[in-house]
Amino acid sequence: MSSFRTLDDLESELGSVAGKVALLRVDLNLPMHEGSVTDATRIRASAPTILELADAGAKVLLLAHFGRPKGQRSSTLSVSMTLDAVEDVLGREVMFVPEVGGPVVAQSVGILGNGDIAMLENTRFWPGEEANDPEFAAFIAENGDFYVNDAFSAAHRAHASTEGLAHLLPSFAGHAMESELKALETALDRPEKPVAAVVGGAKVSSKLAVLEHLVGKVDHLIIGGGMANTFLAARGVDVGASLCEHDLRDTANRIMDVADHAGCTVHLPYDVVVATEFAANPPSVRTCNVHEVARNEMILDIGAAAAETLGDVLKTCRTLVWNGPLGAFETEPFDAATVALARTAAALTAEGSLVSVAGGGDTVAALNHAGASDDFTYISTAGGAFLEWMEGKTLPGVAALRT
Ligand code: ADP
Ligand code: MG
Repeated sequence: MSSFRTLDDLESELGSVAGKVALLRVDLNLPMHEGSVTDATRIRASAPTILELADAGAKVLLLAHFGRPKGQRSSTLSVSMTLDAVEDVLGREVMFVPEVGGPVVAQSVGILGNGDIAMLENTRFWPGEEANDPEFAAFIAENGDFYVNDAFSAAHRAHASTEGLAHLLPSFAGHAMESELKALETALDRPEKPVAAVVGGAKVSSKLAVLEHLVGKVDHLIIGGGMANTFLAARGVDVGASLCEHDLRDTANRIMDVADHAGCTVHLPYDVVVATEFAANPPSVRTCNVHEVARNEMILDIGAAAAETLGDVLKTCRTLVWNGPLGAFETEPFDAATVALARTAAALTAEGSLVSVAGGGDTVAALNHAGASDDFTYISTAGGAFLEWMEGKTLPGVAALRT
């Protein structure tokens, strides 16, 4: 983290920010239903940054994208749809400006008092945003004195508002960005060993890069979910009617070979929960050894014995990174292993013996379902950016902030 300027460096870099214009990239790509924001988590995450800048007397211009307008104005994708929710969370008035640059923004800046907050329009209304066009970035930068990026969730995109601006103005990581980077670095870049990774979810194909990166980094790779079926099949297990990518068997074997050479233990389930139809509590549900799956049965969760063994593995570890549920957790009873292991990880974290970091849309839902989220060290809601970080990729929005 020492290589990033944060809000703590504002004064030494810029002197007082009173009266200066902050271009602050935040995440306002919020879930909506019938015109209202249904979950303000992302606003709450950036509220400390917004308020700190405002309280220091900066004129704060919020920059964000909303949906996928593909470079055109769209009345249904104005970021102003989030205005009420933002004002609610901040407890302050926020002025909406239907532009991101040019004279209208300049005039608005003139009207704003020190410490006032404004929201600029959806950056993706302009094609220069996703093209990361330097001229478009300059058009935005013209009205600002400095740039703060607090949107880790958009940092895997090299867009004008997430990357380009950082090259044009003095740049700083906001508090939410800083804590996300710190948590992720603690978990994978400088972790306390031994390190375990749980990788689950539906398909190997969507997480190949994650698996390939992790086998070289972690001591224990725990594979669950539908992707475990592909690994079991690669080892010659008949997985019956399970979700399985048979064409990726060679890939799975190669990953297990690499793990072997790297001293990484790959954990596959030895008992599984199966059913002949995918429904809540189907009459055909049973637990069996992986070698006893019938032709018409689907593996929908890992078994209780396997889950308990995995809990014992976590007890020997100091760090855990988790992406992907161990089973089809949305449907009972196929949530059992995910819930059990999540609770074990939460308890170990609460005791202080484990640093636990998790991310991924369904993973966050699964950990909430297990009631385990509050005890995890850090839960990333960043989706795509979290996965790219798990793949070991350099995120352009983060790289551009490096000093
Ligand atoms: P995340 O969003 O956290 O990255 P994924 O999207 O990769 O996670 O995976 C979540 C999905 O995987 C869930 O919808 C879950 O039902 C599904 N899944 C997990 N295990 C199985 C399985 N054995 N068979 C079919 N689907 C599964
Ligand atoms: Mg998902």
